[in-house]
Amino acid sequence: MRKILIVGAGQSGLQLALGLQSNGYEVTLMSNRTADEIRTGRVMSTQCMFHTALQHERDLQLNFWESQAPRIEGVGVSVAGPDSSRVVDWVGKLDGYAQSVDQRVKMAGWMETFAQRGGQLVIHGAAVSDLDYFSRTYDLVMVSAGKGELVSMFGRDASRSPFDTPQRALAVAYVHGLGPRPEHPEFDAVRCNLVPGVGELFVMPTLTTSGRADILFWEGVPGGPLDAFQGIKDPAEHLAKTLELMEKFTPWEYARATKVELTDANATLAGRYAPTVRKPVGRLPGGGLVLGVGDVVVANDPITGQGSNTASKCAHSYLHSILEHGDRPFDEEWMEATFERHWEKTQHVVKWTNAMLGPPPEHVLNLIGASGQLQPAADRFANGFNDPADFDNFFFEPEKTNAYLGSLTGAQG
Ligand SMILES: Cc1cc2nc3c(=O)[nH]c(=O)nc-3n(C[C@H](O)[C@H](O)[C@H](O)COP(=O)(O)OP(=O)(O)OC[C@H]3O[C@@H](n4cnc5c(N)ncnc54)[C@H](O)[C@@H]3O)c2cc1C
Repeated sequence: MRKILIVGAGQSGLQLALGLQSNGYEVTLMSNRTADEIRTGRVMSTQCMFHTALQHERDLQLNFWESQAPRIEGVGVSVAGPDSSRVVDWVGKLDGYAQSVDQRVKMAGWMETFAQRGGQLVIHGAAVSDLDYFSRTYDLVMVSAGKGELVSMFGRDASRSPFDTPQRALAVAYVHGLGPRPEHPEFDAVRCNLVPGVGELFVMPTLTTSGRADILFWEGVPGGPLDAFQGIKDPAEHLAKTLELMEKFTPWEYARATKVELTDANATLAGRYAPTVRKPVGRLPGGGLVLGVGDVVVANDPITGQGSNTASKCAHSYLHSILEHGDRPFDEEWMEATFERHWEKTQHVVKWTNAMLGPPPEHVLNLIGASGQLQPAADRFANGFNDPADFDNFFFEPEKTNAYLGSLTGAQG
């Protein structure tokens, strides 16, 4: 039986560990926190996942919370104009629903399942020296430790990483008591509120440790008025700042948030990081090799809500590469090829996410504006969150955007 070590129990590491386990591999999973520490700890993400990524979980029968988590049936876009007005407001319908399950719930639950199914769970914050030792005793060592210190083993791929500094300051609050969007009270949607030059507010439902909740998530351009959470330690102060900024920049969202309260004492998160693509193979001091997984190799800014989706797709792709490789050695050539197979699809996510971080060019403004009158364009934009490769067909180049919009207006005219 092939022995595999996975370091880091997040979306990618756990999905891969459980997938390998159910295929008969002997898997050891190393986590720097226990399931209980994760469950009672701080929120980590907004973790909205779209159909394809959710389907990878279903295929492994890991969709434990599907019936409880709110179904997110649309993605809406609003754009703030002068004097807090709203110049754009539409919602596109998703072909398959999205869901957000608080990673505290999901990772704690998956970790317990892994152990119950006989997996070796080691609670230990791995250091490079540990990996040096383990790379000699396991057939394959994979590092899925997110954006933690172990990423330093993997070189930054400058050709695939246009930014070397954070592009947004992030501030998350999980709340109970948010009202529905009055435009569509009958269904849930991720609401993206764009405040040009300043940042974005994302609002979405989730399933958290205390049941259904909503997430208020500010992404602020560094140094701007939304970059206001550094140094705030008190969760109540964090929520008050969130609401103050909503009242000022997105009053239509504030209107349904006047009665909210935090879901728990660890319901807030603030931070920032530079979006980075890394080389997939880490070389240990003793000569052993480790393969990076998930955010270790591709960390996108959360502006497009793609990280957990990409982590799930990475785990899915790597699982198949491992199964197909049979008993052959997991050498450097295989590791490189395994990552490139994942990159083939993920490059579209990176391209789109990085584009969304910059000021939108005129044709994109036109597309977003026109989607208010053209429901098929709104729907296509929404479904791009599930399959960002489609943006290549109508988003990046003015000619393609214009041709697409023309085809819709022609068809309607
Ligand atoms: C504010 C915010 C909002 C987001 N919103 C979304 C969204 O809506 N949709 C979406 O798809 N993505 C979103 N993301 C991104 C998403 O959360 C991540 O991309 C995803 O969790 C990455 O999964 P992963 O398995 O690579 O790493 P992680 O989920 O980070 O897991 C890594 C694990 O490794 C552990 N670890 C770290 N170091 C060690 C060590 N030395 N030894 C052992 N264990 C270690 C960590 O504790 C953690 O449990 C968001 C991220 C942020 C910050």
